[in-house]
Amino acid sequence: MSSQVTYQSTRGGSSNFSFEDAVLKGLANDGGLFIPSEIPKLPEGWKEKWSSLSFPELAYEIMSLYIPRSEISAEELKDLAARSYATFRHPETTPLKKLNNGINVLELFHGPTFAFKDVALQFLGNLFEFFLTRKNGDKPEEERDHLTVVGATSGDTGSAAIYGLRGKKDVSVFILFPEGRVSPVQEAQMTTVTDPNVHCVTVAGVFDDCQDLVKQVFGDAEFNRKHHVGAVNSINWARILAQITYYFYAYLSLYKQNKDVKVRFVVPTGNFGDILAGYYAKEMGLPTEKLVIATNENDILDRFFHTGRYEKADTSKGPVTGPVCAKETYSPAMDILVSSNFERYLWYLARQQVAPNHTDSEACEILAKWMNEFKTNGSVAVRPEVLDAARKDFVSERVDNETTIATIKKVYETDKYVLDPHTAVGVEATTRRMKEAGAEGTTFVSLSTAHPAKFDAAVNLALSSFEGYNFETQVMPREFHGLKDAERRVIFSGAPRIEVIKQIVEINLEREKKMTV
Ligand SMILES: *Cc1c(COP(=O)(O)O)cnc(C)c1O
Repeated sequence: MSSQVTYQSTRGGSSNFSFEDAVLKGLANDGGLFIPSEIPKLPEGWKEKWSSLSFPELAYEIMSLYIPRSEISAEELKDLAARSYATFRHPETTPLKKLNNGINVLELFHGPTFAFKDVALQFLGNLFEFFLTRKNGDKPEEERDHLTVVGATSGDTGSAAIYGLRGKKDVSVFILFPEGRVSPVQEAQMTTVTDPNVHCVTVAGVFDDCQDLVKQVFGDAEFNRKHHVGAVNSINWARILAQITYYFYAYLSLYKQNKDVKVRFVVPTGNFGDILAGYYAKEMGLPTEKLVIATNENDILDRFFHTGRYEKADTSKGPVTGPVCAKETYSPAMDILVSSNFERYLWYLARQQVAPNHTDSEACEILAKWMNEFKTNGSVAVRPEVLDAARKDFVSERVDNETTIATIKKVYETDKYVLDPHTAVGVEATTRRMKEAGAEGTTFVSLSTAHPAKFDAAVNLALSSFEGYNFETQVMPREFHGLKDAERRVIFSGAPRIEVIKQIVEINLEREKKMTV
């Protein structure tokens, strides 16, 4: 049976989009995020049918439920999934590692850049190329539709996007990052990719300057039309979709060992993209208990689940004056002020609030009102019954910096296994939940979002006092050797100026064109 799903904006301005439109547009015109018109249910007998599948085969089955055959044929989708995960180093793509305390660590970092974002961005890169080459056919170079991806990064997104898009036909990628402010490994990963369609641009400033420049590029309608600017940030629907697979894959590998297994997932969370995929899996029918959100000291989500107020600054101890910024922690990929994907979940909460006799458009109205209030006041509160509903889907834990380092130490002591600081936030949250009453029969799966070698400063801070500990030999993967000395390509743009960035994009697009003819 082929999927009938279409895509609509959370804010109600647009509906009936194809999967292709939702992916290529990224964000809806009314500022909302794309969601599927319905959450598909699982086919009869899925556990038996799917438990023998490889990761790419399972990805194909799940994606098929969200992508109509008329848009991408079965053969084409199978091929896209196979190619997207052929770049992973582990035969199981996302294997489970069991710790001595019983926690199952779901290792999501076996892709090209050693971060979980590869699971989504390897697929998204192939999908962009697929849609563009299909549109373009054998048109001559000057008539081809060309996508120019522009993004800002503080580390992980940039490298995963570059590895997802390198060498792809009809796509160019420009990644802006703050000079000297991304980790040395991440900088080396990005700048040593020398494919002609990849451009790393440093900005003499901070991450927010880079993000502002990207927003200005997107806000320039004429530039946008001329160069067809695209985004790869975590609000793209295809990224969420790709991430649903590993929740099923992990569940099924535990189910194969024990048919009665009760599973609970714990997810280190920033922009809410990773855990949102878990929510979709659960709504599709994956048997799992409430999902556990693990945040660092940037805890907007943790505060929401305790107070029902979604607000940038913590006002629980009185009013806050002056600018509010994200805190710098040992888990920088989770240093966010606002979780952009949370809007999608808020839509489902709004829908529940008006169900069962009302329509999607009423949910959109409520959601749009919430988002406007949040934009104006930096804060929005939901009614107690809405918070109760949210607490049926999620619980949350906040883990501070000191505890993050202590957790890396503890797991090294018990298992000689090295956690990256993001994963450590999740493992600590897991440990707390395991101690709760009623948790005895539950199998905990704690998502590991990065390889520890990417965050050497925090890992060494935790482990350098252990006798015999050696980062180079115990933590650093073979692939990182020599990376620091490899040839680099990087464009220095100087102080943040939009005119300079636009010029850099135009000059390099011209140069690329000359290289391809
Ligand atoms: C992006 C990222 C996260 C946060 O994921 P979200 O989808 O933004 O919640 C956590 N850990 C690492 C290592 C990441 O790169």
